[in-house]
Amino acid sequence: MTNTRLKNNNLSSILYTLKIGWLYPDLMSTYGDRGNIIVLQKRCEWRGIEAKIEKISVGNDIQRLQTVDFILMGGAEDRQQEIVSKDLKAGKDKILRQLIENKIPGLYICGAYQFLGKYYKEANGNIINGLGIFDVYTENSGSNHTRLIGDIVSQIDPGNPFFNFDSLIGFENHGGRTYLSKNIKPFAQVIRGFGNNGKDQTEGAIYKNSIGTYLHGPLLSKNPKLADCLIKTALTVKYKKEINLEPLDDNLEDSARRVIASRLKLQL
Ligand code: GLN
Repeated sequence: MTNTRLKNNNLSSILYTLKIGWLYPDLMSTYGDRGNIIVLQKRCEWRGIEAKIEKISVGNDIQRLQTVDFILMGGAEDRQQEIVSKDLKAGKDKILRQLIENKIPGLYICGAYQFLGKYYKEANGNIINGLGIFDVYTENSGSNHTRLIGDIVSQIDPGNPFFNFDSLIGFENHGGRTYLSKNIKPFAQVIRGFGNNGKDQTEGAIYKNSIGTYLHGPLLSKNPKLADCLIKTALTVKYKKEINLEPLDDNLEDSARRVIASRLKLQL
């Protein structure tokens, strides 16, 4: 724990607040996705920014979704995705689309990323229609294909709003293969691992301020710079002015990154 972190852990002088909408925490949170919420909350608190977590799940009041400043939705296995898909179509889909179009930033991981696309074909052949916000589709060929599992390192694509650092580290575990149309940009390029489909070296997709990615891990604990980009973007959209974040000491996070990089024989 660094001095910077201790010094700012004082909420009596709150300047800004962020309402983080955590979608389906009980159904969509695999491989450490919950850790992303903890990272966002702590990195806000260490800077005197109040972060309120709004848990939104099946049948909850959908109006609460309308008031969030940031959205996080994690991964799930196919069965949970079917439950969530039904609930989304009962009204949350329209609000989510509106938020994304209004540039409310969001991080959509694995199963959640698949939902933003046109459809997800499950391992059993069943088709779950997605929201079609991202011009991508995903197919899981079940036993004909192995799952794409392991550590993954990717490099953020230049030109996207979150490009102020280069490499991302995470862990992936998915049966679905996602394919992007020409109308949407990948989030990153794969250096090690599989990414969207194990073939074209693309990883994730980006639309306005929403990121779809296959990186679990939890992603934000291994990539604190991405966490800060998301916080900064959410504050800037909410307060309609550019807000710069005080830097934090990320030595611990950097050494975790180095361990994984050396395991993969990479220098980051
Ligand atoms: N069920 C999806 C797949 O296997 C998503 C998995 C996940 O979110 N980890 O592709």
